[in-house]
Amino acid sequence: MAKTWYPVIDYVLCTECGTCIANCSHGVYDAKKAPSPSVIHPLGCVDHCHGCGNRCPVGAITYVGENTGWTPPNGTPAANEGCCS
Ligand code: SF4
Ligand code: SF4
Repeated sequence: MAKTWYPVIDYVLCTECGTCIANCSHGVYDAKKAPSPSVIHPLGCVDHCHGCGNRCPVGAITYVGENTGWTPPNGTPAANEGCCS
């Protein structure tokens, strides 16, 4: 559970590919609205997980509480980080 860590979508950059929704197994995103990302359960997000952000092809995901120096990789395979450590 994370009260101070959850994804924020930049809807200007987002192409509604649905990758973030498909790769989160914690119900953070509303599956019914796929492929458009809608964060409905931020408390389910795993603290310091970057699983969806590392997979977003356009770097549209950042995190409330980010303090690790991580920046959106814009789809480059920065890490094979699963959801979620
Ligand atoms: S993939 Fe990880 S960072 Fe993204 S919403 Fe799910 S738990 Fe949170
Ligand atoms: S992975 Fe990125 S571009 Fe795709 S739906 Fe999620 S935020 Fe939008």
